[in-house]
Amino acid sequence: MEFLIFSTLAAAFYFLPSIIGLRKRNAGAIFVLNLFLGWTVIGWVVSLVWALTNEGVVTPIVVQANIQPSPPVCSTCHAPVRASDVFCTRCGNKIGWPVSQRTLA
Ligand SMILES: [Zn+2]
Repeated sequence: MEFLIFSTLAAAFYFLPSIIGLRKRNAGAIFVLNLFLGWTVIGWVVSLVWALTNEGVVTPIVVQANIQPSPPVCSTCHAPVRASDVFCTRCGNKIGWPVSQRTLA
């Protein structure tokens, strides 16, 4: 019984770096280092330090698409219209300009 308790505690201590680094991005690598080189005290210390290292803030990369505003078109016939137009040149429909679109064009 004592042997079982001792070996459980020893295994828990041996895999302490893996347990600490469980939620790290490199959890798998930390575990492998801990498993294969943990017996060489240096490997254990390195994996422990690795497990304790702050990963820092992962900065999200924001890619901003350069979206060109679509050219204004008539809502009835979809013919291109100019900002200065009040009526569509093709169908004669009165163009209801949204204020923002008029300033864009
Ligand atoms: Zn039209």
